Amino acid sequence: MIIAVDGPTASGKGTIAKALAAHFHLPHLDTGLLYRAVGHQCALSGGDPDDPEDALAACTFAPELLSDPELRSEATGGLASRVSIHPAVRQALFERQRSFATQPGGAVLDGRDIGTVIAPEAEAKLFVVASVEARAQRRFLEMQAHGRDASLEEIAADLAARDARDKGRKDAPLAAAADALLIDTSTLKREEAIAAAIAAVDALVQSA
Ligand code: C5P
Repeated sequence: MIIAVDGPTASGKGTIAKALAAHFHLPHLDTGLLYRAVGHQCALSGGDPDDPEDALAACTFAPELLSDPELRSEATGGLASRVSIHPAVRQALFERQRSFATQPGGAVLDGRDIGTVIAPEAEAKLFVVASVEARAQRRFLEMQAHGRDASLEEIAADLAARDARDKGRKDAPLAAAADALLIDTSTLKREEAIAAAIAAVDALVQSA
């Protein structure tokens, strides 16, 4: 079974995808991490993330980069969102995601275009959303816990800018697949969001 979990930054899709993978005993791929690695590699090489050739050259990042804690920073998230605009970058990362999705036994993938581009045949597609306020608040608490300084207003503005870039790009924009089930986590606690996602996947699989 392939489970596609899409949605904007800090909507809770990563937490949900991990929990679904554990519950259904499936491997999980956080596809955002691949774009973050490209963004980070581009910066490390002194490239311009807005230049398609520099961004494409960064797609050959070393595998060890995927475990660099710097990939989780807000700055790298911003770089990822810029390199992900280029169709050549999306194409370069396509096969890796596609083969993960189609491995025997299935998989859970989270990202922006899993249900629409990477695995449109997925048996279960979830689109996880939350208000900008709820997402900014979560990110703020997360950053505080890691001893990082940032204002709530700055985080909210950054999230809104990334949403606009992800939704507005021509190639594989952030969008719910027509047959995706929407989960709004704005007012849900972590465990409630996970329970809602498991129930949604069970319902989708039973009705298939
Ligand atoms: O999910 P995460 O915040 O780690 O993703 C970072 C950026 O990578 C997103 O803002 C988006 O621009 C890009 N991305 C993408 N397609 C995916 C996953 C992430 O374009 N499947």
